[in-house]
Amino acid sequence: MKNIITAQNIIKKFGVGDEEQVVLRDISLTIQAGEFVAIMGPSGSGKSTLMHALSGMDKVTEGQVTFDGKVLALLKENELADLRRNKMGFIFQQPTLLKNINVLDNIILPAMRDKRKHRSTIIKKAQELMERTGISGLEKRDITQMSGGQLQRAGICRALLSNPKVIFGDEPTGALNSKSAKEIMNIITQINQNGTTVMLVTHDAQVAAKTERILFMRDGQIATEMTLPRYNGQDLHERIDKVTAIMK
Ligand code: ADP
Ligand code: MG
Repeated sequence: MKNIITAQNIIKKFGVGDEEQVVLRDISLTIQAGEFVAIMGPSGSGKSTLMHALSGMDKVTEGQVTFDGKVLALLKENELADLRRNKMGFIFQQPTLLKNINVLDNIILPAMRDKRKHRSTIIKKAQELMERTGISGLEKRDITQMSGGQLQRAGICRALLSNPKVIFGDEPTGALNSKSAKEIMNIITQINQNGTTVMLVTHDAQVAAKTERILFMRDGQIATEMTLPRYNGQDLHERIDKVTAIMK
């Protein structure tokens, strides 16, 4: 197995002097290519900060993050931007889509910044992804006319358009009703089964139960870690019970 992300003794502090707050306290971890990982833990425990550190959105104060063989801190700003654009995909609780352009244009917007790619190739790929995520036919739809689940699907299409190695999701189902949340999780599980590494921050035991490794954070550290067999559609209730038990 190949390591896709390595964190070595990372520390993240915010603020200076009296205001200083240590948010990540010496975290080391390795994520292998193809893994499906959930990060859980109480609000404020550092989940989002950890994900920002691993994805190079934020610099760590101490320690080192390696992504796909590259030490993030050694990259020039444009190299880091390229890496983030081409090798990582991001899904948020509420996808940040622009209201004045249609769904398809929103999906292709970040990819269009890559001058090496043709618009027609990008559109073809976007349409395949829309089909896969169940929103084909909505290309011209106004963003304001989309449901939460449809918006999240569009966000996923946008994140997948560059064929990223890793998908990072910060509470991707957090704003959805339980039916939509399940559907979105099925899509994310499918993405992982096709070989993409997926890392999700979630509060939801039902979401975490579908992953194969759960990191429980507490006060800036990984307090506990749990592995599960790869989810094959079976024993979901037992898996949820296991996750819930360890959350307590
Ligand atoms: P979680 O995602 O687990 O809820 P976060 O990683 O968002 O937690 O935040 C952990 C702590 O770090 C919180 O106390 C938060 O206030 C602080 N924090 C996060 N981002 C910043 C920032 N940009 N500046 C200052 N403090 C921050
Ligand atoms: Mg958070």
